[in-house]
Amino acid sequence: MKILKFGGSSVKTADRVVKVMDIVSDTLATGQELAVVCSAFGGITDLLIDMAKLAAAGKDEYTGLFHQFTERHDTAARELLGDQYSEIVNDLTENHDTLKALLKGIQLVREISPRTMDYVLSFGERNSNFIIAQALAKRGINAQYLDARKIITTDKKFTSAKVKFDQTNKNITKYFASRKGTVQVVTGFIASAVGGLTTTLGRGGSDYTAAILAGGLRADVLEIWTDVDGVLTSDPRKVKTAFTLSELSYAEAMEMSHFGAKVIYPPTVQPALAAGIPIYIKNTFNPTFVGTRIHEKADPNFHSPIKGISSLKDMAMLTLEGSGMMGTPGISARLFSTLGTQGINVVLITQASSEHSITFAIAAKDAKQAKNSIAEEFDKEIERGTIKPPAVKKDLLVMAVIGEKMKSVPGIAGTLFESLGRNGINIMAIAQGSSELNISFVIEAHHELKALNLLHDQFFLSELKTINVFGMGLGLIGGTLLKQIHEQQAELKKDMMLQINVAGISNSRKMVFANDGIQLDNWESELTGSEMEADIEKFVEQMVSMNLPNTVFVDNTASKLVPNYYKQILDASISVVTPNKVATSSSYDSYVDLKSTAQKRGVKFLYETNVGAGLPVISTLQGLIKSGDRVDKIEAVVSGSLSYIFNNFDGAAPFSELVTKAKELGYTEPDPREDLSGADVSRKIIILARESGIALEPTDVSLKPLLPPHCMEAPDVPAFFKALATEDNHYSNLATKAAARGEVLRFVASMTGEKATISLQSVGPDSPFYSLQDSDNMIVITTKRYHTTPLVIRGPGAGAEVTAGGVFADIISIGG
Ligand code: ADP
Ligand code: ASP
Ligand code: MG
Repeated sequence: MKILKFGGSSVKTADRVVKVMDIVSDTLATGQELAVVCSAFGGITDLLIDMAKLAAAGKDEYTGLFHQFTERHDTAARELLGDQYSEIVNDLTENHDTLKALLKGIQLVREISPRTMDYVLSFGERNSNFIIAQALAKRGINAQYLDARKIITTDKKFTSAKVKFDQTNKNITKYFASRKGTVQVVTGFIASAVGGLTTTLGRGGSDYTAAILAGGLRADVLEIWTDVDGVLTSDPRKVKTAFTLSELSYAEAMEMSHFGAKVIYPPTVQPALAAGIPIYIKNTFNPTFVGTRIHEKADPNFHSPIKGISSLKDMAMLTLEGSGMMGTPGISARLFSTLGTQGINVVLITQASSEHSITFAIAAKDAKQAKNSIAEEFDKEIERGTIKPPAVKKDLLVMAVIGEKMKSVPGIAGTLFESLGRNGINIMAIAQGSSELNISFVIEAHHELKALNLLHDQFFLSELKTINVFGMGLGLIGGTLLKQIHEQQAELKKDMMLQINVAGISNSRKMVFANDGIQLDNWESELTGSEMEADIEKFVEQMVSMNLPNTVFVDNTASKLVPNYYKQILDASISVVTPNKVATSSSYDSYVDLKSTAQKRGVKFLYETNVGAGLPVISTLQGLIKSGDRVDKIEAVVSGSLSYIFNNFDGAAPFSELVTKAKELGYTEPDPREDLSGADVSRKIIILARESGIALEPTDVSLKPLLPPHCMEAPDVPAFFKALATEDNHYSNLATKAAARGEVLRFVASMTGEKATISLQSVGPDSPFYSLQDSDNMIVITTKRYHTTPLVIRGPGAGAEVTAGGVFADIISIGG
């Protein structure tokens, strides 16, 4: 005998019911005896609850919902039964009329008791199973509708009734004995108490109905058909990388469901376990897939000590503390029996080793009742001041990592704390189940997705790490970066086990976000199609609230405003990567503050591309300093545009023409004065000095201007070029004079001690700068170790490809 249970999503619409019927037919074709249990059509139980509540509030709107209810069942019945619909229309209408009268009654008395609610809810399962039984019969299957109220007997705890197994099992045996050869189509979820009153087994209870039936009939197998490929390592709606567990022990399945894995209703496992019946979780929409087998033993070959990570939302935490708790026996017994009497389920308990306080987690809806009843129980102690009134914290969740193999693997809790801590998630309480089958802990509810994904990566895909990138600025560098990430994504995943997910981007007009990553072959249209106007503050807010693991903010703008947010971002445990030089070259204090904030939060602040684009300049300096070297002098040609101009200037062609050409080639800013002013070079030498351990301020840089005032002050770019042309002779003279000495002109920044200077210099063949070509940068570092021959870093120091490449390398280094 096999029991097949189909959940609400499997029977949501007529075409889905057809898939269900195919599965039933296929099973019968193997010669298997079977019974079927179905839930209400997907969403119907919620609809019934809403209807009843509206009616009880006296609102006529319930009739609209009632109309939806009848429509859905009529439509499904028509589609499934065709001509034979007329044979059942009277029964269906009778059901609907009864429900209608019932709702009217609720509206009149303005009250919905749990008892009436259960009766209202029963219409969902009764209708669905009635229709499905008829549809199976139409296929020629000997199917009969069975109202579970005839067989499952419970107490009167409406909305989550307790099953009376002795009576129920007798009823089941008797009922089925006389119906051999039929396929009973049984209403899930509903049962009856003494006197025929309708009860329900709790939300999601159809799974339980099927297990009760399996136990009562000593079935060989219980199959639970749902909308996912079995029990997965975590809820696939929350963790995209979750995967199916092929085997699970009863104990593991129980823990998973207890801590929120909705795929199995918690009490379901018990009757199957008691009778040793294996449970299969299978996907109605992928029926050939094996799914999950739940049985006695845990899978010994599973690669991780953890089987699953689940979370329970809407939790609150209560703490009872006070000196009166120390060494006083019976306090916790009193506490938990008080909660027990109130029917409040305690999910997690921790007690400080000093026994000074007890903290426990319960459903948030029970918090008020728990607080009051505890205050009442301990009123004397509270009055005396030996125990404080219970403190309540809300908006929490309980998360659990589960697995039988956990007990034999040390250090799991440590790993767990460390990765949560590094991501700014504070654990408020922690408990280990006595069976050592789970570690559960309390965190703030808004961290749910971040914590789940983080731990999932950690325990199951230990090698795969996801980095979530939020990019601001989509100009030449930003756009090239997205292109590079797109091209490298697959390789990185394969070779470095690194998943780069671009979860948000913004230019100066629009912004767009996607938890699972923006399509990088299509980001332009995603961005233009976005309804969200660009706004730095909102961008940062959204990024922080998305709360994804290993988040990196990438500032590809040259904006002075964006860096104002770095501190706040780093404080939210988000790394910052940027080619933008503003933050690192403004005040020394704020530079130091950003670095120490990053360190304090365990995240990174990386800006390798601030000097020399993709060349390894910053990291080299940092490496020298960390390893105990001392930087005595830096000389550098660090402007790609000025480099291009002077490397090509021999005085023959006019200087202004060369600047025009450099501009056309994209080597300069749209207004070339931004380069020619030397301001950019000044920022770079400040950064180089700081990385060398020198607290250089912008005012410590002496800059000999390249351009005379009338050029700098020209009102716009064309006027500037006109003014520059009047200086052509001057520059030609400089160049020819230098050439006469066998020298060339170079715009050099240098730093010795606490001083930096920037000027146009004439250098001879013995200078390392003499042979520079194209837009090459060169940084010459003299240190304690490199004192006779300085360390030279040379290469292309500008251009979108190399700069974006450097930014990309910084991003990747966060994964490593
Ligand atoms: P049904 O309608 O078939 O009873 P449910 O909605 O009650 O289905 O349960 C299936 C859902 O459980 C899945 O769609 C999934 O989102 C959720 N779920 C939560 N945790 C898990 C998990 N660990 N494995 C599989 N599904 C899970
Ligand atoms: N229909 C009920 C519910 O939605 C029972 C079930 O689906 O298992 O909770
Ligand atoms: Mg369910």
